[in-house]
Amino acid sequence: MGVSFRRIGSWIRNRLRPRFGTEYVEADVPSHARPRTLYVVMEDGEPWSTAMLCPCGCGEVLHMNLLPDERPVWHLIHHDDSSSTLHPSVNRIKGCRAHFWFRGGRVYWCADRCEALWKDLRLLLALRRKV
Ligand SMILES: [Zn+2]
Repeated sequence: MGVSFRRIGSWIRNRLRPRFGTEYVEADVPSHARPRTLYVVMEDGEPWSTAMLCPCGCGEVLHMNLLPDERPVWHLIHHDDSSSTLHPSVNRIKGCRAHFWFRGGRVYWCADRCEALWKDLRLLLALRRKV
């Protein structure tokens, strides 16, 4: 006993969860942002912004400010495996209203479980189509 289907389900979902790489760019995000990429925009050797294609598949590029004297501000954590974590969660208040945590290069939706599973599948399928 002890092993629940729920645990197995989330283990499988974590294996399938697409991993975003981190790419450092000078001055600005490329006009055609690639999926599965977190862009870190550098200026004078300092990261000041991050950007990524919205993982919901809506095609919008999301920008997250890293400058502490501007609001809202995110904290960027670099990991040894070249993935990144953003804190706090990304919450779009307009457009697609995507709300997710970005941890270790992976997207974790803030939604009830059923809805989150649906969004995981959409993200997976959207990336398959583009590759
Ligand atoms: Zn979106």
